[in-house]
Amino acid sequence: MVKEIQVRVPLKQEKKEGILKFKAAEHLKISSSEISSVKILRKSIDARKSVIIFNYKLAVYINEAAPERSDYVFDYKDVSKAKAIHIIGFGPAGMYAALRCIELGYKPIVLERGKNVKDRRRDLRAINQFHHVNEDSNYCFGEGGAGTYSDGKLYTRSLKRGDVRRIFENLVFHGATEQILIDAHPHIGTNKLPKVVQNIRETILKYGGEIHFESRVTNFVIDNNKLKAIQLQNETEMAVEAVILATGHSARDIYYLLHRKNIALEAKSFAMGVRVEHPQQIIDSIQYHCKSERDALLPAASYSLVHQVNDRGVYSFCMCPGGFIVPAATANGEVVVNGMSPSKRNNPYANSGIVVEINVHKDIPKYDHFGVLKGLEYQKDLERLAFNAGGRSQVAPAQRLTDFVEGKLSNSLNDTSYQPGLKSAPLHSLLPKIIGGRLRKGFAAFGEKMKGYYTAEANIVGVESRTSSPVNIPRKDNLEHPEVLGLFPCGEGGGYAGGIVSAAMDGERCAEAAIKTLE
Ligand SMILES: Cc1cc2nc3c(=O)[nH]c(=O)nc-3n(C[C@H](O)[C@H](O)[C@H](O)COP(=O)(O)OP(=O)(O)OC[C@H]3O[C@@H](n4cnc5c(N)ncnc54)[C@H](O)[C@@H]3O)c2cc1C
Repeated sequence: MVKEIQVRVPLKQEKKEGILKFKAAEHLKISSSEISSVKILRKSIDARKSVIIFNYKLAVYINEAAPERSDYVFDYKDVSKAKAIHIIGFGPAGMYAALRCIELGYKPIVLERGKNVKDRRRDLRAINQFHHVNEDSNYCFGEGGAGTYSDGKLYTRSLKRGDVRRIFENLVFHGATEQILIDAHPHIGTNKLPKVVQNIRETILKYGGEIHFESRVTNFVIDNNKLKAIQLQNETEMAVEAVILATGHSARDIYYLLHRKNIALEAKSFAMGVRVEHPQQIIDSIQYHCKSERDALLPAASYSLVHQVNDRGVYSFCMCPGGFIVPAATANGEVVVNGMSPSKRNNPYANSGIVVEINVHKDIPKYDHFGVLKGLEYQKDLERLAFNAGGRSQVAPAQRLTDFVEGKLSNSLNDTSYQPGLKSAPLHSLLPKIIGGRLRKGFAAFGEKMKGYYTAEANIVGVESRTSSPVNIPRKDNLEHPEVLGLFPCGEGGGYAGGIVSAAMDGERCAEAAIKTLE
């Protein structure tokens, strides 16, 4: 017999061996000798009160062995001679579109502008050390897309958009730790993601799919409203029947291309702001109510904050406990920051984007003349502003948090995890008021909600500008573009995802939709 139960284990008891079996027997009022095994289905931490509790959802096997295998099977077929589907971009959306094609008996042909994970590393070093951005291979572009050198947080709110568990099981199938199937807020970590991505590549190649790196798509050949061919940067032209466009939200050249070709796009609201970095110990002490180091059983603490300022949300985004701030620009002449963390989250800093909602229809009237690309142009201008304020390299403009809120230039900055370095800049006056003004009020309110958060020991770093796409590529109910037959806008670049898991799920859906039109 199997019984699913919930138990609460205080931090002190968590250390005791066999505690889960003991708690399960107590809960079910049976002898622990009747319990064959206990499987953790879900684990979360409740640190709201001074006694920290681990909440467990357990499957308790009573006089019965637990099954060894997962219910999920991935039935990949040899597709080397099957009908082709072209996929542009090999981020989470493109990777999962390709895997789904193989499961359904179609051959994915992937075109990716960047390099494979190994070669990509050299380009990341060039950004951090020499401040040179390879515009095809960086923190956003290359094998695995923006998801590879990221935190690998897998939390998603898009539960209705697909089978989240299927994506998690597939990540485990490709080498991610099984812990992601259990944790309430799972993450993989930037040190482990490249191997998972590489394993996904190997599956695709093993079953007859094709992946072409350093193959940037530069043009679409459209005839009679039907996408007929795609052209690459080296003038190669490929005839196509169905194309999944999974180029991510940083592929501005794709938006410009579609716009030039008069293919419908829509301006989309998005969010921008800064990244804030605290010593991790401060966040731990606030969240875990401890004066010194956190207990060894507790992970680096995170937070999630939101506050309304003048009708717009100011909120934390992509919080990276025990992580690093990274330079995520995709072109020279811009500074963009983002965050990532290793699987152990053991870096001494906690960073998070703190961003302000931008209503693209109301907030930036000066950009109206750019039409549907107004959000994109605004985003670009802010990134250029950060580049200039940082001293025209990948050094990022920064300020002590308290100086930013109080409107003072910082005479000195705190140490940082951001490798290219920081330069003190008056971000309080440089940022547009609709962002800077709201951020300052937002930070002050966060300091009330989390005592100790508002501190001179934190830096803010500019700018966090790539939270989501400023452009939406429309699609019909069958996920095809309304004006271009055979084109399936997909993932974050289309405006249909906001992270790794939602992009992967959208990739699967687009593959299924594209296949339907070929059957
Ligand atoms: C530093 C960082 C940390 C992040 N941390 C997290 C996190 O912890 N959790 C989370 O859920 N999300 C995180 N994100 C966001 C997440 O990575 C994205 O939401 C996700 O990768 C979007 O997937 P995608 O496949 O739609 O697009 P992308 O991942 O952006 O992939 C698009 C791919 O298309 C390629 N491409 C672009 N243009 C062309 C072209 N013309 N021709 C050929 N190829 C092209 C690009 O090179 C890229 O590889 C992070 C992002 C960054 C940058």
